[in-house]
Amino acid sequence: MVTPYKAEPATDFTVEANKQEFQKALEQVKEDFGAERPLVIGGKEVLTDDKTTVINPADKKQELGYVSKAKPEHIEQAFEAAEEAFEAWSTWAAKERADLLLRVSAIIRRRKHEFSALMVYEAGKPWNEADGDTNEAIDFIEYYARSMVDLADGKPTLDREGESNKYFYQPMGVGVTISPWNFPFAIMAGTTLAPVVAGNTVLLKPSGDTPLIAYKLMEVLQEAGLPGGVVNFVPGSSRDIGDYMVDHHKTHFITFTGSKSVGLRITERAAVVHEGQHFLKRTITEMGGKDTIIVDKDADIEVAAESIVHSAFGFSGQKCSACSRAVVHKDVYDEVLARSIELTKELTVGNTVDNTYMGPVVSQKQFDSIKEYIEIGKKEGKLEFGGETDDSTGFFVHPTIISDLDPEATIMQEEIFGPVVGFTKVKDFDEGLKVANNTEYGLTGAVITNTREHWHLACRKFDVGNLYLNRGCTAAVVGYHPFGGFKLSGTDQKTGSPDYLLNFVNQKVVSEMF
Ligand code: GLU
Repeated sequence: MVTPYKAEPATDFTVEANKQEFQKALEQVKEDFGAERPLVIGGKEVLTDDKTTVINPADKKQELGYVSKAKPEHIEQAFEAAEEAFEAWSTWAAKERADLLLRVSAIIRRRKHEFSALMVYEAGKPWNEADGDTNEAIDFIEYYARSMVDLADGKPTLDREGESNKYFYQPMGVGVTISPWNFPFAIMAGTTLAPVVAGNTVLLKPSGDTPLIAYKLMEVLQEAGLPGGVVNFVPGSSRDIGDYMVDHHKTHFITFTGSKSVGLRITERAAVVHEGQHFLKRTITEMGGKDTIIVDKDADIEVAAESIVHSAFGFSGQKCSACSRAVVHKDVYDEVLARSIELTKELTVGNTVDNTYMGPVVSQKQFDSIKEYIEIGKKEGKLEFGGETDDSTGFFVHPTIISDLDPEATIMQEEIFGPVVGFTKVKDFDEGLKVANNTEYGLTGAVITNTREHWHLACRKFDVGNLYLNRGCTAAVVGYHPFGGFKLSGTDQKTGSPDYLLNFVNQKVVSEMF
């Protein structure tokens, strides 16, 4: 491949020129507000009567666009188009498919701020988080393009005298991508284009909260020359088409990122073999998290507090990787809590057009659910800071710290997916590990310690897919930190890893006698 992979650098918004360019992009994307967006099936645009009205969660009266909703008959057409496109697409050489992806990422990189600016409005992302999302989308595309080239010739296997053996990979067929609103560009693009670069064709159902950024990817794919039918854009209500897509006898794989309940439902339904289906479906699920930062007795207090605060409140805690539990050694508990509160006081909350640290949460549904959790938290522990909510103009929830929680408390057990962090006190590191593992999830975690043995112990015993030392527990970078969780956090098929594309290929062995 042209150059080795390296992650896309973050934009430095303290540089005035960058700031101005971003402000320009924020104005420019407004020109598209109010546009109608179609489905795209087999490369053709299909407008439907029933549409989703996409709003800005920071200003719910601001309507951003109207997106056609797919119904089962459109899904049926999309399966046909995808099946037809598979015939040709699966015969493209790995390098040809990879090159097309590199063209896609080059187009996005040139117009980077335009994508990020749209996410500021559509997902309420703060500037740096939106920029991070776009950069991660580029990273996924660049990384998987190279991965495909690495896999092109298969892997070595042994030959014997008079016998030649080959071990290589083939695309599987048509699959389904169901993507989330919290990384509406990165995860959507990554989980769509990984199977695609491996030679499959896809039906993409983006989150109903953030379909506009997904449509923008469709425009780029078309510009880059992706044949019609390779990616079919079918946003719609989960009730109408979710099960239908999962159950369909043409679905070979489902890649899903979202809640535990939906992930489990998909896993169960995908296990059923339907009439006309002559293969088993694969599910690649990335579900929730209840991620913990353990603070040890000898920890650097500043590192601990900063790690907790930024992992808990970055993008309002709307990450599966967000810190929602701080498990702190009794000797430093008061100090870490006090410093975390001080740092939290400095955070700004508001419409992210103004580059606040935190914006709104994504929807009324999320707002109501987080608000309810805050009420529960007030009863289970002590509200130390925050707790305010306001949905008069947008869905604002202030950063909230609840202390003195029992490890079994609801706030310490259930995924809140909002800016709420619970503190609990432990007597030693062993107890800290026990409390950290005392959840059904196992996605990310961090340990703040200066005792090397405790870090070694955590590496063996902290039951999470992504573990960090002396830093926060969010912000995995493609290729550097392959990402995915244990337990009920998902199937742990690490995104951004050298193994990820193996989820989307059949492994074939050909043995020839001479
Ligand atoms: N990869 C992201 C991170 O490391 C989280 C992804 C998610 O929330 O689904 O923060």
